[in-house]
Amino acid sequence: MREAPQPNYDYDVNRLVKAYELALKDVQQELNALFLTDFERAQIIAVEKLIVHRLSDIRKYSDEWSAVAMTHAATNGIASTIFTLGLTKTYEDALKIVKFNTANKRLVDAAIADTQADLLAVTQNIERQAKLAIRKATAEAMRFKLTRGINATQDLSKEIRQRIVKATDVAIIDARGNRWKVGNYADMLARTKMMEAHKEASINEALSEGSLYGRISRHGAKDACSKHEGKIVKLVVDAPGDYPYIGDLPRNEIFHPNCAHTVSPLRDPSKYNES
Ligand SMILES: [Zn+2]
Repeated sequence: MREAPQPNYDYDVNRLVKAYELALKDVQQELNALFLTDFERAQIIAVEKLIVHRLSDIRKYSDEWSAVAMTHAATNGIASTIFTLGLTKTYEDALKIVKFNTANKRLVDAAIADTQADLLAVTQNIERQAKLAIRKATAEAMRFKLTRGINATQDLSKEIRQRIVKATDVAIIDARGNRWKVGNYADMLARTKMMEAHKEASINEALSEGSLYGRISRHGAKDACSKHEGKIVKLVVDAPGDYPYIGDLPRNEIFHPNCAHTVSPLRDPSKYNES
């Protein structure tokens, strides 16, 4: 049986991660610069403006990144199905004839909007944290002024400064209360969204080619995914046969965040021999 190449989205993911890390670094640099001033109102406003401007840049960047990356991942997913079903000689040939059917057009639009919204939440949180940091620093500086007189901000201890600036490096606090660093979160989000778009697009293409089954890829996973590797699944819930429906597989076991598993289409699972 044919195997499409295992997708590798490191390049796209790293581009986004680097962009976010750079933006965060710039924001933190602005905050550090503020510490060298007297925390006059005009200075605070100027720094806030710079930060907001920097974050609107990264927002534009992530909107574009989402559009390009989701289209790219879906294209690969579709090509994987075309190649696996034997419709072209090579995977490269499959890439050349990729067309987005209605389901996949909708899928990509939704994936782009979704990813943009999730990334927007990150920039909004950095902005919120940065403003909070400015407020905290201002309050600390005031306290120092009260007790030590002028040049208060220069007296703010390095430890306090570092703690206030470091607090901006939280992209999101998830449902379990985990605090995600900006770079780690951007990495997980980008990777997960791209793999998801890849998988869903490959399934839509399989269905439009009349292939109602799929086989979960295998790469020797060590986590809970391992028990699903090589498993044959139904791609639609009412396909005949005694196979689990892909949508019913527990998400904490397979297709979880950062999961690298894909699904290859199978026309007739009874003819498939594990080898
Ligand atoms: Zn997995």
